[in-house]
Amino acid sequence: MPEPDLCELSVPNRIGFRFPEVDVPCAELPKGLVREHLPLPELYELDVIRRYTRLSQLNHAIDTGYYPLGSCTMKYNPKINEEMARLAGFAAVHPLQPVQSVQGCLALMYELQEWLKEIGGFAGVTLQPAAGAQGELTGILIIRAYHKDRGELQRTKILIPDSAHGTNPATSAMSGMTVVEIKSDERGNTDLDSLRKQCDETLAGIMITNPNTLGLFDENIEEVIRLVHEAGGLVYGDGANMNALLGIVRPGDLGIDVLHFNLHKTFSTPHGGGGPGSGPVGVCDKLVDYLPSPIVTITQEGDEETPPVYGFYTPPKSIGRVKSFHGHFGMMVRAYTYMLMHGKEGLRKVSEHAVLNANYLRARLRNVYHIPYDRICMHEFVAEGRWEDAPEVRALDISKRLMDFGFHPPTNYFPLIVHEALMIEPTETESKQTLDAFADALIRIAEEARTNPDLLKSAPHHTPVGRVDEVKAARDLILACGVSVEEDT
Ligand SMILES: *Cc1c(COP(=O)(O)O)cnc(C)c1O
Repeated sequence: MPEPDLCELSVPNRIGFRFPEVDVPCAELPKGLVREHLPLPELYELDVIRRYTRLSQLNHAIDTGYYPLGSCTMKYNPKINEEMARLAGFAAVHPLQPVQSVQGCLALMYELQEWLKEIGGFAGVTLQPAAGAQGELTGILIIRAYHKDRGELQRTKILIPDSAHGTNPATSAMSGMTVVEIKSDERGNTDLDSLRKQCDETLAGIMITNPNTLGLFDENIEEVIRLVHEAGGLVYGDGANMNALLGIVRPGDLGIDVLHFNLHKTFSTPHGGGGPGSGPVGVCDKLVDYLPSPIVTITQEGDEETPPVYGFYTPPKSIGRVKSFHGHFGMMVRAYTYMLMHGKEGLRKVSEHAVLNANYLRARLRNVYHIPYDRICMHEFVAEGRWEDAPEVRALDISKRLMDFGFHPPTNYFPLIVHEALMIEPTETESKQTLDAFADALIRIAEEARTNPDLLKSAPHHTPVGRVDEVKAARDLILACGVSVEEDT
């Protein structure tokens, strides 16, 4: 049965809310601001609750099913994170409150900065960026400010490997840089010859993801960093894939100068419709003066009896603010809770298990699906969703069919250097039973591709919404109450 829309359910004069008693003097609103008619549906609270609860159940979510969406690190979001984030002292504060009244919040931010410095091997961290992509923008602006400060205005070229996430070239271009693509070699590493050709006096830096989006640790990483530094460039690390490295490799120790973390991936804060992200940026010693302001700092050391006093400070050459107030504070509470719950040893185990799970799945699937760069992987791997003896089947069909088994599909068609890419990131929070069920489903689908390809082409069959016309969905967006948005051309 199709879901009725709220306007259809509306009955005049039904009321589903109750305002609290007025505890301040009433004032007249200016005439121009008063609306006589608001076309909102009139419903009971129960109607609204039922509708949104039903709608939420139509969605696939990490709390309802397995979600091996490559590069997105869809790990379980522990519920204790939510409990902590809802504590009134964290949830009910205002960002304009005087610092003396929010010392606990500042202490948490300070400690989170310290943990991220330790995890990444960095000298300074900003918590401001709203997500990974904004972290990238922040990092590239820092690199630009650094070169500018040294009078090297000609350094405007950012190198980006061809396996990179789409945000990498986008944020570099937004910062006014020229993007030059670097090839990957046959083992999936950065191609050193391709890199050497670009190492000149216009080089601002390289933006590199390690492990890269093939899920592979770049075997050339030290040489890449050496070459870029030798040419006067800086190295930006896309740290979205830190889930493979916690407690094992510190990017700063490798020589990476600036890197963003994705709290909503590695540190279990919800994402993908589940809440805002958070993309803190860590920098090496020579870049700390350029960090966005404000940074949380200790303004007065504590001792055995009195806790330290926290405040804000502006780095001397700061690129300025990149986000209103202090970033997505609720995400910081969740990430910090996650870190404390695991402890140092626990975080290392997270990465060890993430890598183990990915290699287990890769080993179970490698004789059924072609894996073009088939070597020990890190937290994820990329398979091809095509076979010569099933010519009509594409990666998209495999993904749609997976939904019939109750699994969220892997990432499709990315990275671009693998044909019909299926990018699978199991994460450490899944049991062997779940991994086996997922592998079994993929193996069965590979059989179906040969024996009954139509089953794949017409999938999904058991989801609330069947196969959608993706082109039409993008062109004829239906956002609300049956109103379609005409494409603005
Ligand atoms: C997710 C991701 C990003 C971007 O992060 P957002 O928080 O989605 O902006 C960048 N690079 C890689 C490799 C990613 O997986």
